[in-house]
Amino acid sequence: MDVEKRVVETIKKYKLLRKSDKVIVALSGGKDSTSVLYILKKLGYDVRGLMIDLGFGEWSRIHNENMGRFCSGLGVPLTVVDLKAEMGQGICFIKAVLKKRKGLTGCSVCGTVKRWILNKWARKLGGDVLVTGHNLDDEAQNVLMNYLKGNVLLGVNSAPLAGGGSVDGFVQRVKPLFFVPESEIRKYAEKMKFDILYDRCPCAFGTYRVETRGWMSNISDGEKLKIVEGFMDLDLKSEGRELRKCVRCGEPSSGEVCKACEIFGCL
Ligand code: AMP
Ligand code: ZN
Repeated sequence: MDVEKRVVETIKKYKLLRKSDKVIVALSGGKDSTSVLYILKKLGYDVRGLMIDLGFGEWSRIHNENMGRFCSGLGVPLTVVDLKAEMGQGICFIKAVLKKRKGLTGCSVCGTVKRWILNKWARKLGGDVLVTGHNLDDEAQNVLMNYLKGNVLLGVNSAPLAGGGSVDGFVQRVKPLFFVPESEIRKYAEKMKFDILYDRCPCAFGTYRVETRGWMSNISDGEKLKIVEGFMDLDLKSEGRELRKCVRCGEPSSGEVCKACEIFGCL
């Protein structure tokens, strides 16, 4: 697959970006977000990297160092935000407390915290859009995970252009790699010889996401595409699930109080 071509097609078809946009790319340091930053810069977009330092010891240190080098090589500004400074606690502590008090486990805690920090900082940086490196595998997993949880509506915003763009304070999230399988993006990053870590998050083990990824390993890329396209064809409406402002922190939320504030309330 020509990954760059697929990105251009997705941007065009779903009107993800305008050349005048200030584009903030959420960088984890992994192959997906690194590649999307590289491609958007190559296409001439005004990009800036935004990375959350998760504080995972050596793993985070290497990721941060890699992204510092990668961005300066491309002449792209990079902002690194310290998770502990933002949340008052490190992610391991937050996860441990939530497990004990709410029985919450898995990657969803980290996802909630990341989304909250990324939106806040993308707005602070004057971003028009926030790009993430979510790929076809991530999206197909989301669809099936939501089905298995018995709530397909959880995926109502699962599209290249995530919903909520009209909410004040919400920086539109876009996913240019939405239709690119993970295997293709890995091949692309390796071919480009990006000097990054190709390992998965050391914290993600035994979670629902990891389990799902495991049993989905026999599903072909063509089938993954059918899963996300089939889901988008349902054209579910987000009635009653529109985003609004969290009454506590003012960030976009699907309920009165956002999920990050629920987490803050537990700490
Ligand atoms: P993940 O949930 O780790 O698969 O990440 C999905 C996307 O979220 C990545 O492609 C990035 O765009 C973004 N992301 C994940 N981790 C971070 C981080 N530490 N800092 C900034 N963005 C991140
Ligand atoms: Zn809140």
